[in-house]
Amino acid sequence: MSLLEQRTKADWQALDSDHYIHPFTDHKDLGEKKSRIIVRAKGVYIYDVDDNEILDAMSGLWCVNAGYGRTELADAASDQLKELPYYNSFFQCANPPSIELAQMLKNITQAHLNRVFYTGSGSESIDTMIRIVRRYWEVMGQPKRTTIIARKNAYHGSTIAGVSLGGMSPMHSQGGPLLPGIEHIEQPYWFESDRSLSQADFGLKMAGLLEERILELGAENVAAFVGEPIQGAGGVIIPPDNYWPEIERICKHYGVLLVNDEVICGFGRLGEWFGSDHFKVKPDLITFAKGVTSGYLPLGGVMVGDKVADVLIEKGGEFNHGFTYSGHPASCAVAIKNIQILQNEKLVERVKNDIGPYMQKKWHALAEHPVVGETRMVGLMGAMELVSSKTSCERFDDKSTAGTVYRDFAVNNGLVMRAVGDTIVTSPPLIISHDEVDELIEKTWKCLDHTQKVMAS
Ligand SMILES: *Cc1c(COP(=O)(O)O)cnc(C)c1O
Repeated sequence: MSLLEQRTKADWQALDSDHYIHPFTDHKDLGEKKSRIIVRAKGVYIYDVDDNEILDAMSGLWCVNAGYGRTELADAASDQLKELPYYNSFFQCANPPSIELAQMLKNITQAHLNRVFYTGSGSESIDTMIRIVRRYWEVMGQPKRTTIIARKNAYHGSTIAGVSLGGMSPMHSQGGPLLPGIEHIEQPYWFESDRSLSQADFGLKMAGLLEERILELGAENVAAFVGEPIQGAGGVIIPPDNYWPEIERICKHYGVLLVNDEVICGFGRLGEWFGSDHFKVKPDLITFAKGVTSGYLPLGGVMVGDKVADVLIEKGGEFNHGFTYSGHPASCAVAIKNIQILQNEKLVERVKNDIGPYMQKKWHALAEHPVVGETRMVGLMGAMELVSSKTSCERFDDKSTAGTVYRDFAVNNGLVMRAVGDTIVTSPPLIISHDEVDELIEKTWKCLDHTQKVMAS
């Protein structure tokens, strides 16, 4: 008997409510509404315990790039678990999948990114990156360079380092002192600005804030600047095209390391292997997770560029850092197969030349709807802004009611999309078909109609 058959839906919900503390969840709220028990998935669809079919326009949490139900990925894990389920990479040991994957990652990333440090998640990758960056400056004989600059409303994970580096005020407001030596500048969120500047002028202005902050702090104290190429959890905030090149210029000028957090943008999401490829910048390090295994098993890592690796490895001696699951053989085996799928099925190219442009065109047509103030999308990562007035682009209220109305109606009508305040975001699996995009857009239009009706009443 499968686990599923052993209990009723009500049993699952009651046990869940009694014993399971969920991430980012108000449990009083969950206790009343009850959790939705997801039992299986295939392609772009997930199915709940009542067998409702729901189009997952979020790829889980931005991670199921290759889609659900890939038996090759399950087999890769199963085969590896039978051969060697676990062994560590400490004490001069390694395993074939972790080495093979390192070589594949080198091949799909930019030419100067030749080495990887493995972790178990995006948050651990961020922690690791901070330790590498600070260690680099120590070995370089500039130990005062410890400050790391990030952006407000950035998401870099949920460990104490991730929360500290991220710029999410609801997270900062809980749990006392954060990691010291972290600074935040404003995000390049054009729609939230007064929109008096052109996109290009706005891009330069927002990048210029980095230079101002470096000068305030003294470049001799600044270790690195870190940013998601496109902010994901913050609401798919797509910077103007000139933003990243200007950030890169400023980093170079002041000798500050540039780090891209590619946890969402990597592995084809933007129609290139990585977000830094899309924005044409050369980061000194990148952090990754999520799409590397399409979420089938946990894995993350930091790709370390030659400039940093040469110092860390050639001159730094032992680096006192690592995780039990660094280079986990089963996770690495799944990642190898996942990257092979992306390559063999040309999914990255498909996002760039076929399904990406197809969905973008349909997505932008949603801007016709009376409650939509802006639509934006790169590759298969997009957002739309819900507004009460199209001409002024004014929000409905400050309680994000419209976003919540939209999101709740969507999931009850066969569509998962996320609401970040009144910003609706989407990030479907890269294998989504043209028909499935049509279905996604049709459902989205219905959700917008419903939101308009509720907000007007
Ligand atoms: C999800 C995410 C993280 C954190 O990853 P976890 O695996 O949840 O720890 C870090 N950075 C970005 C950009 C993310 O989207």
